[in-house]
Amino acid sequence: MLKLNGTGASGALAAGKVKILHRYEPGVSHTISEDTDAELERFEAAKKKTLLDIDADYKKVLENSDEEIAEIFGMHALMTEDKEFNSHIKDVLYSMKTNAEYAVFITGKKFAERFSSMDDDYMQARAADVQDIVKRLIKNLTGSKNTIQEFSHKAIIAADDLTPSETVALPKDKILAFVTENGSVNSHTAILARSMGIAAVVGVGNKFLENLNDDDIITVDGYSGEVVISPDEEFLKEFNEKQQNEAIQKDLLYDLKGKETITLDGMGIKLFANIGSAEDADEALKNDAEGIGLFRSEFLFLDSNNAPDEQKQFEAYKSVLEKMQGKKVIIRTLDIGADKQPEFIKLTPEENPALGIRGIRASFLHKDIFKIQLRALYRASVFGRLGIMFPMITDETEVTEALDICKEVRQELLQEGISFDENTEHGIMIETPAAAIMSDRLAPLVDFFSVGTNDLLQYTLACDRQNSSISHIYKRNEPVIRLIKTAADNAHKNGKWIGICGELAADTELTKKFLEMGIDELSAAPSYILPLRKKIRNLSL
Ligand code: PEP
Ligand code: MG
Repeated sequence: MLKLNGTGASGALAAGKVKILHRYEPGVSHTISEDTDAELERFEAAKKKTLLDIDADYKKVLENSDEEIAEIFGMHALMTEDKEFNSHIKDVLYSMKTNAEYAVFITGKKFAERFSSMDDDYMQARAADVQDIVKRLIKNLTGSKNTIQEFSHKAIIAADDLTPSETVALPKDKILAFVTENGSVNSHTAILARSMGIAAVVGVGNKFLENLNDDDIITVDGYSGEVVISPDEEFLKEFNEKQQNEAIQKDLLYDLKGKETITLDGMGIKLFANIGSAEDADEALKNDAEGIGLFRSEFLFLDSNNAPDEQKQFEAYKSVLEKMQGKKVIIRTLDIGADKQPEFIKLTPEENPALGIRGIRASFLHKDIFKIQLRALYRASVFGRLGIMFPMITDETEVTEALDICKEVRQELLQEGISFDENTEHGIMIETPAAAIMSDRLAPLVDFFSVGTNDLLQYTLACDRQNSSISHIYKRNEPVIRLIKTAADNAHKNGKWIGICGELAADTELTKKFLEMGIDELSAAPSYILPLRKKIRNLSL
């Protein structure tokens, strides 16, 4: 039995077999293949796809007039087609009767070593280029986007770290909990775990994977952050009792379903749910959410290689609106960039991605994708009560531009005879200090505000939300509370409503403050809704 301590990132308990997630690194299996022609064909297909990927990166970089970097991709394309490189792969395939992945791997190793051993610094550095191409080729051969996953049973996922796209690619119905060696409570992976209502512990340190094998039994306490590998019988018995207790507490909370969210002195507030998929709406309903305050639409597509098409989006949005049966559903337009790097748009690498092309900035840069999303949203709007929300707003020009594009889309739909709900609301995230400070000018332009405290804390405190080593700074709420008050006052002066959809919405220590400010709606992971209702029903202002 080995006890380790990390940080509880999603409050729940889990015990079960572990599945170690080997993150995508081309660790390549060596298998013998009798059908060498078929392996060669697989290689040729992967090469074709690799060249397309490289070309896409080349064009993307050129769009930003970064010719020097574009040239690197130009060179990668040449290297991929290099005669000697290709014929070496072919030789290995035919002489060793191996699988294509292995032939690429062995060839890459040889060519990289050749470059590394050269005297010239420039030539030495080309070894990394070969490795990059090999990684792409193997990725396209295995068809793996990020992480290799095969699940035969429900398991607790163990990894060194997980990106949001890796997390969303996992089969949700097979996951009992997440444990990662690194990572922070505020990462999108932790947020996803909370929206799924499962336990998560982050930052358990590097002793974890070192001492772990697939199918080991572990326990995960997402409240205290304790993770126990191979617990003894006594510990396991106690843990199971704790789990039963937790289930009883949850059942007691369910008694609050159908009850009003109102303080002892009669002050009401709406409790909405944050979701990342149409299926999460079921969790929202199970926990009696009065609406959806934040549908993170980008989570639908982070694991997809293809740009999200209109029909697929329409179906997801329609499904949520129908499930919520006339309750308000706020869908946020794609918030990609920073830690949410999709497969379908290759965003240009940036020095400071959290301060770069993310949220509405990415939507303006990829207007075609933005318009497709807006079409899908308006088409779905007739199936319920929709609010469209824009992320990462910093000033009025962005709001005006986004609303102009909305108008353009509505006019196109009208011309095509496609109906939409004229009463669709339009709102913005208040998640930059600029938006909160300028909220007097922003409020007249929109129907509502929703405060994204996760980013508002990050940008106000100059504190990376992902960096666990400065998480003590990230806890300093006071400046953000003041900004929320400013935004709330300005929303109300203009007759608009304001909600909070960042993680602070679920912090019951702050609930009273939020009620006193007149916040109209709190939106949190579904499992936090009934605890919040309990808190509010016992408060008087
Ligand atoms: C936020 O920033 O608080 C928010 C709700 O958005 P996200 O966590 O998806 O960045
Ligand atoms: Mg945000």
